[in-house]
Amino acid sequence: MNRDIPERLADIGYVRRHLSYLRLAGMTWEEIGAQAGMGRSQVHSIYSSASAVTYSVARRMLAVKVPERQSGWMDRAECKTEWVARTAADMGLAHSNELFIPRREPGEPGRTPVAYTLLTRRICNLCEVREQCLQYALDGEERGFWGGHTENERNAMRRKDHR
Ligand code: SF4
Repeated sequence: MNRDIPERLADIGYVRRHLSYLRLAGMTWEEIGAQAGMGRSQVHSIYSSASAVTYSVARRMLAVKVPERQSGWMDRAECKTEWVARTAADMGLAHSNELFIPRREPGEPGRTPVAYTLLTRRICNLCEVREQCLQYALDGEERGFWGGHTENERNAMRRKDHR
């Protein structure tokens, strides 16, 4: 019997972080969609929803290169340095982003291993653009670890600011 094997689902957090880099570099949703071979609304809905995407969609998104014109604060991010990439590889991770936004299966609660949090805090403490990164994450609804803080910590900061 010839049955289609369902494609595995990729972690949406990883894809969303890459989309954040592209947007920060000044790309529009149309430009990203054009390079990924998708429509603007499809790309935007992937970014704004928490649902999983298939590996083929994730691959197309991740293949969109961050433009040279970026040269913003993200160029100086400690988490994009070679030593962090090597550390992540030593831990068996496919990409250093997975330290900051750990992979999770669809429907699985987002729980970050303590060892990851200890390490990412150290990395962020060394980072010269920590303030910009934290502000960026506070302004948006980013998942995972940004600017030296977890999602829960950032939510607490927002609540405090609104009191
Ligand atoms: S503060 Fe942390 S997450 Fe943000 S850019 Fe720096 S190292 Fe990366």
